[in-house]
Amino acid sequence: MKFGFDIDDTLINLREHAFHIYNKKLGKNIPIETFHQIDRVEIHEPFGLTDEQGNAMWNNTLEDIYYTFCPPFPDAVETLQALAKQGHEIYYITSRPKEHGERTKEWVKARGFPVEDDRFFYGMEDEEKVDFIKNLQLDYYFDDKPKVLNTLLKENTKVYVKDQPYNRNVSLPRIVHWNELKNIIGNGKQ
Ligand SMILES: [Mg+2]
Repeated sequence: MKFGFDIDDTLINLREHAFHIYNKKLGKNIPIETFHQIDRVEIHEPFGLTDEQGNAMWNNTLEDIYYTFCPPFPDAVETLQALAKQGHEIYYITSRPKEHGERTKEWVKARGFPVEDDRFFYGMEDEEKVDFIKNLQLDYYFDDKPKVLNTLLKENTKVYVKDQPYNRNVSLPRIVHWNELKNIIGNGKQ
């Protein structure tokens, strides 16, 4: 079967990683409990930044956010390796900007995720992911972002939400921990 995955905050804990970087860069010590209470994708509010400042902060910090050691979620690497071993096709679909695509691919490989060069897509807008998912005829797709998920509600692909505080109102099946994936496939559950 064909499995598609978003990367940031689906397979790797990018927002939390960025939260630590923000603390360091801004000389603050906002506790991690505060991070867990943020119910939007953007993380700048506890730092007292406006949306505009937050946007600038994110873009100016991308190099650190993307390429320092952002931890994968527990069992994400192992789960995808097991799928690849079983002969399933693994696709990555990330809206990281084009100029970061190839470096991101190398980074993802270096973390131990199974990557085939022609099954790694990047640089599209959130709303354009649906076209890739349709064209690739994925059996399963996993993402965290409501803006993406809401474009996939009527597709044939079985779409799963990677559970995050900001996507709890999306009514699609969800996965909290990556070790649940084998049960999902095993049950043939929708
Ligand atoms: Mg994401």
